[in-house]
Amino acid sequence: MQTDRSGRLSLTFKIVLGMGAGLVFGLLLNWIGVAGWIADYLVDGLLHVGGSIFLASLKLLVVPLVFVSLVCGTAALDDVAKLGRVGVKTLGLYLTTTAIAVSLALIAATIVQPGAGFELDSDTTFEAQNAPSLTEVFIDLFPTNPVQAMADGNMLQIIVFAGLFGIALTLSGEPGKRVLAFFSDLNAVIMRLVMFLMEVAPYGVFCLIAKVFALQGFAAMLPLLRYFFLVLGVLILHALITYSSLLRGLAGVNPIAFFRKMRDPIALGFSTASSNATLPVTLETVEHKLGVNNSVASFTIPLGATINMDGTAIMQGVATGFIAQAYGIHLMPIDYLMVVVTATLASIGTAGVPGVGLIMLAMVLRQVNLPVEGIALVLGVDRLLDMVRTAVNVTGDASVSCVVAASEGQLSRETLSGKADEA
Ligand code: ASP
Repeated sequence: MQTDRSGRLSLTFKIVLGMGAGLVFGLLLNWIGVAGWIADYLVDGLLHVGGSIFLASLKLLVVPLVFVSLVCGTAALDDVAKLGRVGVKTLGLYLTTTAIAVSLALIAATIVQPGAGFELDSDTTFEAQNAPSLTEVFIDLFPTNPVQAMADGNMLQIIVFAGLFGIALTLSGEPGKRVLAFFSDLNAVIMRLVMFLMEVAPYGVFCLIAKVFALQGFAAMLPLLRYFFLVLGVLILHALITYSSLLRGLAGVNPIAFFRKMRDPIALGFSTASSNATLPVTLETVEHKLGVNNSVASFTIPLGATINMDGTAIMQGVATGFIAQAYGIHLMPIDYLMVVVTATLASIGTAGVPGVGLIMLAMVLRQVNLPVEGIALVLGVDRLLDMVRTAVNVTGDASVSCVVAASEGQLSRETLSGKADEA
């Protein structure tokens, strides 16, 4: 059992305890049967209200935190060339790790053949929504109204505006310095709010997890066990092998220390199934526990929460193989290549909120002429996989952030190896 210096249970330990208790309580409710007062007062009452308030409080912090933190971060980079370099490295690493993730998923799906012999239901239906085109995604990067962008929580537009504002601050002499001082203070206040929220996280996490497991029967999972465990296996493999090699090889970071410090964002990513909602905690952890300077973290983490979805890409890779096998459609080598490219791009277009990865899967399937209604086949286990893949998504963001920071001399090894704030 982990305690802090005053002998109390550490916060991370309490969050893990909240998750475990939520899991057991949820499964118990599911076993008893979610009906009557259990449904009305417990699942749709207490757990729903507690979980929703916690989620809302997390989301509440995202826009102000990203904006203020990124303005400070850009201003600290003091030269535009540096900003460009950090941007190119970050994008390059995000795309490369996602392409590795889909490739691993496709290899695994080809070897294991999770969809071979799968009984197709004749009334399988799935309403696919249209994914935005690539040109729309590019045009959408640029806000016409920053207030609107913030009101809509449009992360990429907020990043662009905050970046421009930060650059203008550094070029504005004395007035710029005064405004920057205000933003730095504001940043400290918002970070304090994040810490408040972490204090109630164990309870929030309990409510979120208990509700999911109370409602999620395992019957739907049985025919999909091979698919489920294959996605799970590749997710774990990618997190342990790809990220560890990246951290060790490119940043000289000990992966064990990294994963120990990442426990809070991993637990929250899992509980909320939303990279966006987890963002405040990821940012706090990456800066204060992993030692990434704000100038790099404030850019890489919000960008990653929006465009870097390795876990999602893994699900899409395995699901594509699964659906092709279930329908008895043979994919050619060029199709595999198309899946890697489209799933990597789809992950950019996937918003960091629950379930969107499945919608973007339609784009991948269309690209290789697979039936989009095949998505319905994997729907039954998607909520649980969403939780795990979101945990992988946020871990990927933090890994790349560490690597970029190390390459720019912006990683504090002292903070990273410090034991005191591990909890
Ligand atoms: N829930 C995922 C995330 O927020 C996205 C997805 O795969 O649906 O990162």
